[in-house]
Amino acid sequence: MTETTVETVKVLSKTTWTDTLFSFTVSRPDCCRFTAGQFVRLGVNPSKLKHYRYINDSQANGDQPVDNKPVDEEIFRAYSIVSSPYDEVLEFFSIVIPDGAFTSQLQYLQVGDELLLKTTAFGFLTLARYQQPAPKDLWLLATGTGVAPFLSMLQDPATWESYQHIILAYSARTFSELAYVDKIQSLAEDFGSLADNPAKFTFVPIVTRETEDDVKSIDNSLFLKEFSKLPKALNKRIPELLKTGELQARVGESLDISSTHAMLCGNPQMVEDTKETLKSLGLVMNRRGEGNIAVENYW
Ligand code: NAP
Repeated sequence: MTETTVETVKVLSKTTWTDTLFSFTVSRPDCCRFTAGQFVRLGVNPSKLKHYRYINDSQANGDQPVDNKPVDEEIFRAYSIVSSPYDEVLEFFSIVIPDGAFTSQLQYLQVGDELLLKTTAFGFLTLARYQQPAPKDLWLLATGTGVAPFLSMLQDPATWESYQHIILAYSARTFSELAYVDKIQSLAEDFGSLADNPAKFTFVPIVTRETEDDVKSIDNSLFLKEFSKLPKALNKRIPELLKTGELQARVGESLDISSTHAMLCGNPQMVEDTKETLKSLGLVMNRRGEGNIAVENYW
């Protein structure tokens, strides 16, 4: 078994998607090896961040000390890796959980801040869990930050070589919470093209609490530019889209026991409901390599 070491890593970049969603990259220690789809444990010591949130202080402001002190302790949380196993950096996608000890500190990260990383990767939401040869289709079904492990898989040319059709259905409450849409739309070109005989790729955005009309009135040209490139979003929850066949119709494929691998990641209730729906369509849980469905709850 690989020995876990705790390494100090430096924040290299940060992308803010919304008030509650952000991504960041950190330096990757040589000893940190992982398979696409796995997670690692990241640690933060709030007192070591340039900007941090003071205890009981709702206003984040490292420059204006109030009477409280930042927490001086290491807090670790599991994070799926967004970047590919071949990248020189590690990328993560995070939601801010109100009053969450970890993410409420992490949201104030700045380039140059230091985090801790336990270098052993975990998790079985990987393509290696499936016996080969792979069937025709790979369905990746995600909500929210649960898209992270799928982004890693889709940046691995081996994924593109293993299937004939890869489908990513990614559900968020609002259009602005659909992160990485530019990247998703260039994945086939950027990573699929490195594979021999690459799979076809279909991206299905799903937005459950807004319509296209709601966002047309938003005064944000950058957002509208991104939005204009999106395929038309579906607007019901994934299990319902599967039950009615709307998702299959959009993709042009059916889901069945002989042609499908289905991976689910995100909101635990979505994972549960989707799993049951897929079973009602005749798919079975993957055990010891055999079977269609593999899942990861995200919290
Ligand atoms: P979310 O409620 O998970 O919604 C994201 C998407 O998933 C929406 O399209 C939503 O549809 C859909 N969804 C929710 N429940 C579903 C179900 N049973 N079946 C199918 N689809 C479902 O929103 P989020 O913003 O990603 O996360 C919500 C909260 O979860 C956060 O505020 C945070 O506190 C917590 N969270 C915790 C962690 C953690 O690591 N602890 C990680 C992520 C999120 P609807 O619009 O119809 O609900």
